[in-house]
Amino acid sequence: MSLEHPRARGRARQRIAEFGIQSPEEIDLEALAAARNVLVREAALAGAQARLVRRKRGGVIRVHAGLGSLGQKRFCVAHELGHLLLHEGVDQLAFCSSTDMLPGYRARPEEPEANAFAADLLMPERMFLDACRGERPTFGLLAGVAESFRVTLSAMAFRYVELGVRVCAVAHSEEGHIRWSKAAGDFRIRLREWGSRLDGRTRASDFFGGRTRRTNEEDVPAEAWLDDHRVEARWTIRGIMIPMPTYDSTLSLLWVVDGSELDACGA
Ligand SMILES: [Zn+2]
Repeated sequence: MSLEHPRARGRARQRIAEFGIQSPEEIDLEALAAARNVLVREAALAGAQARLVRRKRGGVIRVHAGLGSLGQKRFCVAHELGHLLLHEGVDQLAFCSSTDMLPGYRARPEEPEANAFAADLLMPERMFLDACRGERPTFGLLAGVAESFRVTLSAMAFRYVELGVRVCAVAHSEEGHIRWSKAAGDFRIRLREWGSRLDGRTRASDFFGGRTRRTNEEDVPAEAWLDDHRVEARWTIRGIMIPMPTYDSTLSLLWVVDGSELDACGA
């Protein structure tokens, strides 16, 4: 499978190979940074999640001390390492907001590259596929893999779709609407358009209505998420809704069950 941003992904794979990293617990970001004379520090940052200051030899990565989880912090450090290794000369100082860390955000070309680097550094493809192999997507699987790779559930879910572990899609919703979505290459059925209001039957809709903040598995009629004339009434969308309170948004991992095309979809 060929993913976007091959240069960034190649750089991350190089780091993993050079350091002889064989398992997720060996991915030591401070050591990777130190090898480039870069210090990693926590600090109170206003209006940013992370910042990279480049010096003549090396630099400093500062991560916002108020970030809630180890997974968020690690993603920020890996993202800034991506800027350090990929974007020399673009900016002496990278100042990255929470939206810069979202996988679908594309306002500046450097941001998705830094995110691709971070995903490949934190969740190397072979190790990640080994961890997910043979398992149906469940909240327990997502949580277990996220914990062993020390990443957020949302970063894990996006990687799961990106690598096409199962035929599924991911939808990111904000303020009761689908902001963007991404489907694995083999997910041949169209999701509802970006900007659509969430169907009231979905867990994501419940989140914005203040009815749930818990991660939930859901079964809803296919038309709640899909916008395609081939959708049949007997199909069901099974999903896992991951709340992202930091961004006041949700991520939903979705796959189809009960359809004739879907026998191979992990249902
Ligand atoms: Zn950035």
